Amino acid sequence: VLRLRGLTRRHGETVVLDGVDLDVQPGEAVALTGPNGSGKSTLLRCVLGTEEPTSGTVELDGRPLDERDPRVRSALAVVMDDQDFFPDLSVVEHLDLLARAHRVADADDLVDDVLAQVGLVAQSGQLPGTLSSGQLRRLALAAALVRPRRLLLLDEPEQRLDTEGLEWLGARLRREKSEGLAVLFASHSPRLVELVADRSLELGRPS
Ligand code: ATP
Ligand code: MG
Repeated sequence: VLRLRGLTRRHGETVVLDGVDLDVQPGEAVALTGPNGSGKSTLLRCVLGTEEPTSGTVELDGRPLDERDPRVRSALAVVMDDQDFFPDLSVVEHLDLLARAHRVADADDLVDDVLAQVGLVAQSGQLPGTLSSGQLRRLALAAALVRPRRLLLLDEPEQRLDTEGLEWLGARLRREKSEGLAVLFASHSPRLVELVADRSLELGRPS
């Protein structure tokens, strides 16, 4: 489903990504590992289209991933580091809005189900600014789960989750795989990689 060829990202003389080739098939999860600054987030942003590769291609189902193509974009569900939420919408309002924007069938049931899964039922009426950092992370995960998706991109989704949250995340991503999703995630958690990944791509420090 996802195909990267010769993906390269340079900043001046610094080579962050050096010709990365990678395929992620439906039902498969690939972990991006490697030290701080090795280009994991950069690679995810190039797939997402928020960062332009210096050279190389990103294709989804044989078509270039173009940020402006809504059909391609609608296949992606994303959990990034710097996720923003509307400050004036409660947890449940965010999820309702997303589910409706993506015309999900039985949006109310899905939102209730996802809220329970991520453990935010008691916080459903709270505004994002009043959530703990781990609860915000759970909201970001919930947002990715209330929409149709074929490819899930996650940047260190384990961040700020407690032990129980990490185990839940591992199980949930395994379920996503079994339902045919392709999963590409960056992680510093050996436990999450062990639970979820079929393969790992280890990136090195920039040269
Ligand atoms: P982490 O584990 O810390 O999240 P990461 O693997 O996600 O790291 P990236 O954020 O993708 O790493 O790394 C980007 C790399 O590109 C870093 O080494 C950073 O220093 C480098 N970089 C980013 N912008 C510039 C720039 N303008 N000039 C030079 N190097 C840059
Ligand atoms: Mg990163």
